[in-house]
Amino acid sequence: MEKAETPLQEVRAKIAKACNIARRDPGEVTLVAVSKTHPAEAIEPLLIEGQRHFGENRVQEAQGKWSALKERFPATVLHLVGQLQSNKAEDAVELFDVIHSLDRSSLVKALAKAKEKAGRCPECFIQVDVGEEDQKGGCAIADLPALVAEAREAGIPLAGLMCIPPADIEPAPFFALLDKLAHDNGLPGRSMGMSGDFETAIMLGATHVRVGTALFGARG
Ligand SMILES: *Cc1c(COP(=O)(O)O)cnc(C)c1O
Repeated sequence: MEKAETPLQEVRAKIAKACNIARRDPGEVTLVAVSKTHPAEAIEPLLIEGQRHFGENRVQEAQGKWSALKERFPATVLHLVGQLQSNKAEDAVELFDVIHSLDRSSLVKALAKAKEKAGRCPECFIQVDVGEEDQKGGCAIADLPALVAEAREAGIPLAGLMCIPPADIEPAPFFALLDKLAHDNGLPGRSMGMSGDFETAIMLGATHVRVGTALFGARG
């Protein structure tokens, strides 16, 4: 095997290796490069290397950075991975192709309205509060079936489920839980795994891994 020369090559090689061990097709796993807080100059080299999926956590920051970059790299697929306020739903629907943080009924309603107005709607992951920690957002596990049904009724295209496991404890059980919840709700996508644990997430069924630090270095 050739030696990986860039962080992107290194992460891709690790994804391929985890897929190989799990007997999965690497084409089933989308690498979302989380570029939040990093300027356009840090993002451009990855675009030039062929990376197409990028994640941001704030609508306003993403608008500023991506309007020019998207013009130059029109095949870019932008993912919102951070919490979304209902009053920013319209802007988010304009800019993003995928939203990973749909987590409550009021946001389903705001997105449905924004979808009506824009004539398009990003694919959405429902974020699940797998660790039962309030501060990160996410729908309570008990409320998930009702939220899935409401989003489906509102015509929001659902890609799957997303989670951010609690910090500093073994994430694998939470990834396994998200996989089961996605299965139980008939949803294909599992957005799980970050720089420290994306290989574990892939072993447990991740379809989208959200990797920032391993690609861009530490955030300031
Ligand atoms: C910042 C962030 C990531 C990336 O985290 P790293 O540890 O830097 O890879 C992934 N998902 C979400 C929701 C984030 O906010």
